Amino acid sequence: MAEAKSAIELSHVSKAYPGDVDAVDNVSLSIREGEFVVLVGPSGCGKSSILRMIAGLESPSEGELLLHGEDASKLEPKDRDIAMVFQTHALYPHMTVRENLEFALRIKGAYSATEIKERIREAVDILDLAPLLDRKPKHLSGGQRQRVALGRALVRKPKIFLFDEPLSGLDAKMKNQMCVELGRLHSRLQATMVLVTHDQNEAMTMGDRIVCLSNGKIQQVGTPMELYEHPANEFVASFIGVPPMNIFAAQWTRDGLYFEKAGVPFAVSEEFASRYRSIPRMLVGVRPEFFTISAAAPNAFVATVEVLEHLGYESLVYAQCNNLSLVVRVPPFENFDVGEKIYLSLDEKNIHLFDISTGASFR
Ligand code: ADP
Ligand code: MG
Repeated sequence: MAEAKSAIELSHVSKAYPGDVDAVDNVSLSIREGEFVVLVGPSGCGKSSILRMIAGLESPSEGELLLHGEDASKLEPKDRDIAMVFQTHALYPHMTVRENLEFALRIKGAYSATEIKERIREAVDILDLAPLLDRKPKHLSGGQRQRVALGRALVRKPKIFLFDEPLSGLDAKMKNQMCVELGRLHSRLQATMVLVTHDQNEAMTMGDRIVCLSNGKIQQVGTPMELYEHPANEFVASFIGVPPMNIFAAQWTRDGLYFEKAGVPFAVSEEFASRYRSIPRMLVGVRPEFFTISAAAPNAFVATVEVLEHLGYESLVYAQCNNLSLVVRVPPFENFDVGEKIYLSLDEKNIHLFDISTGASFR
């Protein structure tokens, strides 16, 4: 079987704005038909620019963009069969929810009254908007407004949905609810969806695939698990995961890997040493869940508990080992005293290693 055409394909796409801003830098990315892809990265890394190019609101300065195999530079925004939902849900304030939904179709002038009615019924059904239909936007909560904005995209039945930080304005509970709702919408519609967020947590819960960006460049593309377990570089390692991975400098000594700020050596196996010995100095990364707090074990090092955080589903211990601050994940409500000495041990197979100058992963 021939491979299905990509819904969206960016090939060496760059975007420069006046004033020497390289917002997007040589991005190549292929998004399959029906896929849910999340673009994630800190503010200013070029996420919205990528979405706007896909939607046709900006054109690439360099490179090629294909939509369903067609060169997008020849397609007007209105001919791209794309609906975009923004963080600021621009609903018409003087119109009711029903009128807002109708307007999304009227403006195209392409549907009969029956068709409009049917499409609205469907969207209302999917998003549970019936109780809101006669209200004006000012009488809706933030989450409800966002659902209406979603409904307005939905009635157009586009092939591609683009979401630009649609959940950023919502409180934590509403955010979770909308995450679930978007996931449900995706599996029901089987449409191609691209969502942009600066929140790694949102990316982890929603994407089939995550595209992690920094400074206009793709850092890594993969499933949430791939990015978490095998980050391609230090940037991804520290951006994905809460609390972030512990990352600190280390160098080789006779006694093994020497954790510089901690001032302690860490004994490693022959195999580990022979594999990485040629790298004199590197960054070591350890996820908070991979330290174990133990009674004085041979290869453990001593730290002092500084802060304890009980989050219900887990607890976090912030500990200090000489000049090295570490965060350690422990079972819910496990108790330690501030100032208490603890022994941290670590299995070498759970250590990440990064190039000290480029940040690239060695493992
Ligand atoms: P993100 O959505 O990840 O926050 P953007 O794509 O909005 O990032 O912006 C990327 C970079 O491009 C930022 O440095 C931003 O200031 C700049 N930028 C965005 N739009 C414009 C514009 N119209 N003119 C000039 N610079 C812009
Ligand atoms: Mg943005």
